[in-house]
Amino acid sequence: MFDNLSDKLQRAFKSLRGQGKLTPENMEEALREIRLALLEADVNFKVVKEVVDRIQYKALGEDVMTALSPAEQVVKIVRDELIAILGKDTAKVKFASQPPTIILMAGLQGSGKTTTSGKLAHWLKNGGHRPMLVSVDVYRPAAREQLKVVAQAINAKLYEGKVEEANTDTVVRLAKEARREAISNGCNILIVDTAGRLHIDDQLMDEMQHLKTLLNPQEILFVADAMTGQDAVNSAKEFHDKLTLTGVVLTKMDGDARGGAALSIRQVTGQPIKFIGVGEKYDALEPFHPDRIVGRILG
Ligand code: GDP
Repeated sequence: MFDNLSDKLQRAFKSLRGQGKLTPENMEEALREIRLALLEADVNFKVVKEVVDRIQYKALGEDVMTALSPAEQVVKIVRDELIAILGKDTAKVKFASQPPTIILMAGLQGSGKTTTSGKLAHWLKNGGHRPMLVSVDVYRPAAREQLKVVAQAINAKLYEGKVEEANTDTVVRLAKEARREAISNGCNILIVDTAGRLHIDDQLMDEMQHLKTLLNPQEILFVADAMTGQDAVNSAKEFHDKLTLTGVVLTKMDGDARGGAALSIRQVTGQPIKFIGVGEKYDALEPFHPDRIVGRILG
């Protein structure tokens, strides 16, 4: 993860070694390399522009730290900027004051939504919670079956319910029943795996809206496949504009060598990355720590 970006940034810093101070001339070359490194990592071009402008402004500004060498100064500025775009703090899950806490999982088909629902239940169980899972994807029996397999594997409660007709009324009924079931089983969290589609469409969004109004969830997490880069960022933005998300889970970070989605999604949607998926196993979910990611990039 981020190997290429890391190497390229090091090269940009190297070009400043041995320089007496930061000047517009020596910064020009370094900024060009930083810009290229970010673009090659598939960071959103608007984010790249903002970041590079701020680095330039800070590097040539009044309050540069003269105790540091030019290369060290720029490393520090880049570090601060990366932290600024990723968010300083590790985002937390919001819990309801009156259980059950409801977590709505949104995302396109194949993004890893069902797997992530299971991973999240597993993570919450390890934290001493009692989660219940429900799939309201009434359109794809295989998706509901998959969640059942997941629930069994991690030994978490599942509300199955009955699906006679595949429509929004059934979705709403299942969600209501699941909430009731969670309460009567003493489960303090209900994770709702919603329908996945290949593309965003009005029906999907209407149904998500219905669920949001009905359940008043504490969290609406958008699950996005990091390997799809800027497509993940664009769909996150579209979901956020229509639904107001509370956070993002970026999956398949283990296979994403470039890292562009991770470095753009918060800046584009305003929503924090709360978790990252780093493998197919149920324990391969980590809370997102911006400082560790920046450490990985800058060494
Ligand atoms: P859904 O259609 O969004 O529910 O997606 P699934 O949960 O079925 O996941 C699609 C595929 O991605 C499955 O093969 C998962 O094992 C895989 N997957 C999900 N998350 C991760 C991850 O973090 N890393 C890797 N390597 N694979 C993942």
